Amino acid sequence: MRYSALSLVKNALGRNLGWAPVWREPEPRPHYDVVIVGGGGHGLATAYYLAREFGIRNVAVLEKGYLGSGNVGRNTTIVRSNYMLPGNEPFYEFSMKLWEGLERELNYNVMLSQRGVMILYHSDGERDALIRRGNGMWMEGVAAELIDREGVRRMMPFLNFDHARFPILGGLLQRRGGTARHDAVAWGYARGADRLGVDLIQNCEVTGIRREAGRVTGVETTCGFIGCGKLGLAAAGHSSHVAQMADLSLPIESHVLQAFVTEGLKPCIDHVIIYGAGHFYISQSDKGGLVFGGEIDGFGSYAQRGNLATAEHVMEEGVAMIPGLSRVRVLRSWGGVMDMSMDGSPIISPTPIDNLYLNAGWCYGGFKATPASGFCFAHLIAKGETHPVARFFRLDRFERGHMIDEAGAGPQPNLH
Ligand SMILES: Cc1cc2nc3c(=O)[nH]c(=O)nc-3n(C[C@H](O)[C@H](O)[C@H](O)COP(=O)(O)OP(=O)(O)OC[C@H]3O[C@@H](n4cnc5c(N)ncnc54)[C@H](O)[C@@H]3O)c2cc1C
Repeated sequence: MRYSALSLVKNALGRNLGWAPVWREPEPRPHYDVVIVGGGGHGLATAYYLAREFGIRNVAVLEKGYLGSGNVGRNTTIVRSNYMLPGNEPFYEFSMKLWEGLERELNYNVMLSQRGVMILYHSDGERDALIRRGNGMWMEGVAAELIDREGVRRMMPFLNFDHARFPILGGLLQRRGGTARHDAVAWGYARGADRLGVDLIQNCEVTGIRREAGRVTGVETTCGFIGCGKLGLAAAGHSSHVAQMADLSLPIESHVLQAFVTEGLKPCIDHVIIYGAGHFYISQSDKGGLVFGGEIDGFGSYAQRGNLATAEHVMEEGVAMIPGLSRVRVLRSWGGVMDMSMDGSPIISPTPIDNLYLNAGWCYGGFKATPASGFCFAHLIAKGETHPVARFFRLDRFERGHMIDEAGAGPQPNLH
């Protein structure tokens, strides 16, 4: 069924009894050309582009829970392409361009809202670093604006300008950045892939990877053995765990990242704002809740909930930036398991095993990457060649020493 104003009216007149399920619930077949592990944003987008761009439709996505139960449905929904390094910026800008056409492409409202992303600066040194970042963006043809203190004040008068420990001196704005509805992205790609013949198998956990003569022949799952010609791993926070099933050790640590949402308020925060004197980011959802988060909890964990010390730290940063936040009630918090790589940048790569491909290491920036990650991973699986914008994201860069360390934090996953 195609969604349109007409289909809305037609179904409303039919007491909304005519809506078809958004995707099928198929039984797994014994063998697929491609199996993708992980029904998050990246796994679903990969399956969609395999079918749509590369004509490979005999594909299954295996998800241990329900579609979108992982990080894709847990993130703070920020979408931007304001990176600096040549390894990153073209990739994230490619993603941004895909975002800009995604609703038409999928015939699904992913609620992309290009409300602008502002990174604040609080010292001359930080200003210079942001100017460098902005210039890096312009070099790749991506617009960035340096806004002075009074300019920021006009846009965001509720920030703490006058009594702050770290006074706000200005910010770097990417107007095309913003937010998208996270679940809708998973649902939109799932529906698109299903319509092209991809089997989406929920409640099907991969428990082993079977190999013969150095090649993957299929996966052991809680639904039985499923054979495949090629296997793609897109298990985000569980990447190391799944890769270990093929005796592959990854340069990844898994850490919890928490997020928070407040009670609904009238529209008050028009942009996405990123604090420069710590690690805090905030936006307002369409329902009115303020959605925010900060740093990872800092120790390895597979729990989808975080500790109170980090929650307190995030609140402190939020109140330092917006004092009025102290009067707002927080409704909920939750956590997601982040696949933190050694240099803070992702991996879309072949592996030492011939027909096994890896998509991982998204740290806490993988939501914005969903369209490009899916496209480039599908390109790699279909053609056996790395897509040009993802050419720096190879797994062997850690052996060769070609790090993409955007944060300049060194080989320490919990600092990126
Ligand atoms: C709190 C929080 C805030 C974030 N904020 C942002 C943000 O604002 N902007 C941004 O760009 N990014 C953000 N991120 C990061 C982003 O959400 C992730 O990088 C991205 O979603 C990861 O890719 P994914 O969607 O495929 O992951 P997931 O949705 O986690 O998909 C992986 C799937 O694999 C499944 N799986 C794992 N093991 C197995 C197995 N053995 N068998 C079968 N299935 C398996 C899991 O159940 C899961 O559904 C945030 C993350 C969190 C947790």
